[in-house]
Amino acid sequence: MSSIIFGPLLSRRFGKSLGIDLSPNKKQCNFDCLYCELKPAKTVDKYDDIIPIETIINAVEDALAEHKDIDVITITANGEPTLYPYLGKLINRINSIKGDIKTLILSNGSTIGDLNVREALAKLDMVKLSLDCATDKCLKKLDRAHDGLNIADIMQGMLDFKAIYDKPLIIEVLLVKSINDDVKNIEALNDFLIKLKPTRVDIGTIDRPPAYKVEALNYDELKGVVSLFDPSLPVYIVSRKTAGKRVQKYTNDEILQTLSNRPLSSDDIEILFDEDTKNRLKDLLNSDKIKIKSYGGIDFYKLP
Ligand code: SF4
Repeated sequence: MSSIIFGPLLSRRFGKSLGIDLSPNKKQCNFDCLYCELKPAKTVDKYDDIIPIETIINAVEDALAEHKDIDVITITANGEPTLYPYLGKLINRINSIKGDIKTLILSNGSTIGDLNVREALAKLDMVKLSLDCATDKCLKKLDRAHDGLNIADIMQGMLDFKAIYDKPLIIEVLLVKSINDDVKNIEALNDFLIKLKPTRVDIGTIDRPPAYKVEALNYDELKGVVSLFDPSLPVYIVSRKTAGKRVQKYTNDEILQTLSNRPLSSDDIEILFDEDTKNRLKDLLNSDKIKIKSYGGIDFYKLP
């Protein structure tokens, strides 16, 4: 059997993360995304290769005994972790052994319309769900979703989940050139996200070799898309690989003007501001003209 546990991996956001792979032997997913970093595979709506809870818990216990300084346990899969049939029970067991360690799941969001999935995820400390598409057409084309999945159920499920969950809920949107980066899709996603009010919205693009021949957006294109989102949404540009530094000098007024359009993350500031501007930003912070607010573990600079 391939390894159930991976890491610990060091993440700036969460600290030391221990990963659990609920489908270590093969890809089991109800999507077959064009951008998937795993090989293409036929979609499934349930696992047929199921690792017993006891085997997973033993592996987690061994890993926690070996690594005493884990900050977060991240539940993932070669595929979609919420298709694991005993997810609720597994999370109960993890919660009973984890102590102060936080828990996080990375899900494609497709099953959130299912009450059992919502109840299971509600027991975690952080939930990250993907949402690339606002239409069924896009869901079929980009995420190549299993038959029967539809955007209305997914969106309603997200709203129902948000109504019972007051811990960090992060929505991840992955953009693929000429597939889901059009204004119509982004505006529809924006309208939905304004209703959903997630803790943070992560916008990224392809940064690993994809399963199919599709193209990433560059940083300027990502920024262009981000500017279409409502400024009230804490949008974080995830993809750094294509970013490159393009630092510039901003006056105090320009800094304030930029932040009034949209809060900027520390990563954005590294990419956009030169050293002088960063010093001015510090001065503005010290004089309370701007403030730092954390959304789901990421610091944003914004106006008070
Ligand atoms: S949801 Fe994740 S694992 Fe499934 S096909 Fe898409 S990228 Fe791959």
